[in-house]
Amino acid sequence: MRKKVYADYAATTPLCTDARDAMLMAFDTYGNPSSLHHEGVVARKIVEAARETVAAAINAEPDEIYFTSGATEANEWALSGETCPLVSTIEHSSVLEYPRRGTRAFLYGKSGIDGLIAVKEYMKKGGPTLCSVMLVNNETGTIQDIQALCDFVHQFSDVRFHTDATQAVGHIPVDVKELGCDMLSMSAHKFGGPKGVGALFIRRGVKKASILHGGGQEGHLRAGTENVIGIAGMAAAIEWATKDLLAKSDYLSVLKSRLISGMQKIDDVFLVGDPTKCSPFISCFIVCGVEGQALVLALDERGVCASSGSACHEGSFDGSHVLRAMGYTDEAAKSALRISIGTETSVEDVDYIVQAVEESVKELRR
Ligand code: PMP
Repeated sequence: MRKKVYADYAATTPLCTDARDAMLMAFDTYGNPSSLHHEGVVARKIVEAARETVAAAINAEPDEIYFTSGATEANEWALSGETCPLVSTIEHSSVLEYPRRGTRAFLYGKSGIDGLIAVKEYMKKGGPTLCSVMLVNNETGTIQDIQALCDFVHQFSDVRFHTDATQAVGHIPVDVKELGCDMLSMSAHKFGGPKGVGALFIRRGVKKASILHGGGQEGHLRAGTENVIGIAGMAAAIEWATKDLLAKSDYLSVLKSRLISGMQKIDDVFLVGDPTKCSPFISCFIVCGVEGQALVLALDERGVCASSGSACHEGSFDGSHVLRAMGYTDEAAKSALRISIGTETSVEDVDYIVQAVEESVKELRR
């Protein structure tokens, strides 16, 4: 029987009920948070309460949270003004394609978790004022040892560490004090919140120039009237997503193991990256002899929403830059299938995904 299964949580997540409710409430608050009168104060309270909630979710202080339009802007801000930033080649395009002079990017090996070795090598050459490595890769789900990377990078005076935690916040425990990072990016729509809102954590004492100039919002660093409704939704979503995180993670790990063993029974299907250091939400496979995008369309015909890599690159035919950075051939990079699940996914959904992939592969390999 044809089912509908959403397995593209890394591209975006459905809006959770708590976020929807919080946003509906905020719709009635039309005041400008910068206004002195009653309506303004009501709106300001929503924004400041949300800042506290978001800060608590990552063990930061409220004045270290700066709301943005999403992770793309947060990443842009983190990298802006830095000299010769050192970034990994598996970063999201918003980090990789930030137009900057003298950026150094380092390659990854097949495990997808060997960044520390590369960072050590490059840092000795000197120059960068910032190193940026993502916490969870959006295509493979591999988790980087940010704590070790921060410890190493901070041995060099005046070098800051930024992590794009867009696929981590709300999915795995994120504690900025434990990680030791100076800046961290996140996006609400990746953890059950609305699109078009996110935040950059900037550790107290880290000097960062304004990203948007004009009014005095966000500590005079990010001008523009706040997206009160989006911010309210983001706070409700982060609270919902981080509640019972370990139990959710255990549930997803069981689903992921089932998915991997089902997928590996299909001929010439291989898991990408180190499965032990990986988010339970994201799995990436190379399906030999099949074009990833053709597979995504064949799956869609069977009611399964998956992707062949980052949603931001869906439609381009170069294949995954992440897989190429990990040393896979161009052909393999074009044969990637990313399946990303969420707490709404059931065991039956996973079995249906595997069955749909099996049928689609058979059809496409003919
Ligand atoms: N970084 C990562 C790792 C992502 O997965 C995404 C979204 N695909 C972004 C940044 C950009 O986020 P946003 O959609 O909020 O701009």
